[in-house]
Amino acid sequence: MAKIQASGLTEDERYMKEAIRQAKKAQALGEVPIGCVIVYEGKIIARGYNRRMVDHTTLAHAEIIAIRKACRKIGDWRLEGCDIYITLEPCPMCAGAIVQARIPRVVIGCMNPKAGCAGSVLNLLSQEGFNHRCQVEKGVLGEGCSQMMKDFFRELREKGKGEREGSQKSAASSGHRI
Ligand SMILES: [Zn+2]
Repeated sequence: MAKIQASGLTEDERYMKEAIRQAKKAQALGEVPIGCVIVYEGKIIARGYNRRMVDHTTLAHAEIIAIRKACRKIGDWRLEGCDIYITLEPCPMCAGAIVQARIPRVVIGCMNPKAGCAGSVLNLLSQEGFNHRCQVEKGVLGEGCSQMMKDFFRELREKGKGEREGSQKSAASSGHRI
C-alpha cells in the first residue's frame, strides 16, 4: 500500500518529483530530459540526469551517473537495499546496469516504446533465467514525465523548423541531433 505523505503525494511520487527535477537540469542543457534518483533507507543517496551531449559520451545516461554515485556512497557494487526512480523507461544499457547492480525495485515515470527495456522492446528487468529480477512500478507521475518529453521534442522540432526557414547562418550554428 502506498504511503501518503503530508504533501498529498505518495512516497513514490515524491521521489519521482525529484527525478523530474533532475530531468529539467538536462533540459536546461539542451539534453533530452531524463532524470533519476536512487533511494536508500528512505533517503536520496544519488541523483543523475542525462548528459550525453555535454559529456560527449553515450555512457552519460541519468541512471548510469546515479548508479556510479550510489555505489561510491555505499562502497559496494551491489545496490541491494536501493530503489531507483527514473522518469523514462530505461534503455538496454541502463536496464543492464540496474540488473548488474542487483537493484531490487525500479520505479518508472513513462514508457519508451522505441527503446525501453522494462517491457516495451525487451524486458531485461524481469527476464527469466537471469539471477536477478526487479520489482517494477510503472506510470508514477507518468503524465508529467510523458508531457515533459513531448514538450521537449515539440520545441526541438519547432526550433529546427524556424532555423530551416531562417538564415543559413543560424541553421549552420545549430548542432542539434537526436
Ligand atoms: Zn540508458
